[in-house]
Amino acid sequence: MSDYRTITYSPAYTLVPTYECFNRCTYCNFRANPGDSPWLTIEDAEGRLKQLRHQGVCEILILSGEVHPQSSLRQAWFERIYALCQLALSLGFLPHTNVGILSFAEMRSLGQVNVSMGLMLEQLTPNLRQTVHRHAPSKVPEVRLQQLAWAGELRIPFTTGLLLGIGEKPEDWWETLDAIAQIHCHYGHIQEVILQPYSPGSQESWDASGFDLYKLPDVIAKARQMLPSDITLQIPPNLVPDSQWLLACLAAGARDLGGIVPKDEVNPDYPHLHLPKLKEILQSAGWKLVPRLPVYPQYQSWLPSRLQESLRQ
Ligand code: SF4
Repeated sequence: MSDYRTITYSPAYTLVPTYECFNRCTYCNFRANPGDSPWLTIEDAEGRLKQLRHQGVCEILILSGEVHPQSSLRQAWFERIYALCQLALSLGFLPHTNVGILSFAEMRSLGQVNVSMGLMLEQLTPNLRQTVHRHAPSKVPEVRLQQLAWAGELRIPFTTGLLLGIGEKPEDWWETLDAIAQIHCHYGHIQEVILQPYSPGSQESWDASGFDLYKLPDVIAKARQMLPSDITLQIPPNLVPDSQWLLACLAAGARDLGGIVPKDEVNPDYPHLHLPKLKEILQSAGWKLVPRLPVYPQYQSWLPSRLQESLRQ
């Protein structure tokens, strides 16, 4: 029997339907102004996905800026996302969509073509609406909590998380974690919680230092105590570049490194280590890095039969 402990990651590739977003979070390194980001065409996406076949990629992470719910382009935006999911499935990949706030009907539709979905809760404190989220209507905490509840009602395996270091106080972390724990106790659908340290990038308008990574293991340890044990804690390894602190995060209870992608679209200034190097660092401390699917085993029976068939293939 191996003495190694296991840590998981998802071999993934990101498709961005559009970078345009009607919100303006000041720490954002992703968004473009509406009209300034040509949408990804199905033909272009198909060309990219075909090149990925037989390269070990399983998850297609569909990540998009948000088109305003009242915009005349909203329906076309939604249909493009849906078509990208269908395309990914048709080519043998498993989609995981995270495109911001959805209507109940939109979420229900996307649940038919995604093996899991995601939305960061970030922080529940309303104080951020006066600061980093002043011009981000989608970051109203109640609206985001509602999204988590809808995903639960729809039995969609879900990923959420906290963005740490955007102006909140430590007590706000516990309030946000407690809300996630409660919603999971009700619906049982939260498969993982990401603890993402804010990391300044070159494209944002906010002038702030990054989250103090030395605090991250303590936050992870407290989160591990607060959250039900069937929720996996995830940290993005490219945002914890010091291997000593990365290992401290695992010792504190993180057990997943999320999607390892060629380009972190949300944090483009922070590339991932090459997988062999990451494996070597982890192995030196007794961890074995193993790939996983974008849906955790305990949720696979929740999926529509067509998606279960995709999983089997
Ligand atoms: S963080 Fe997300 S919601 Fe905020 S501006 Fe960037 S893309 Fe839009």
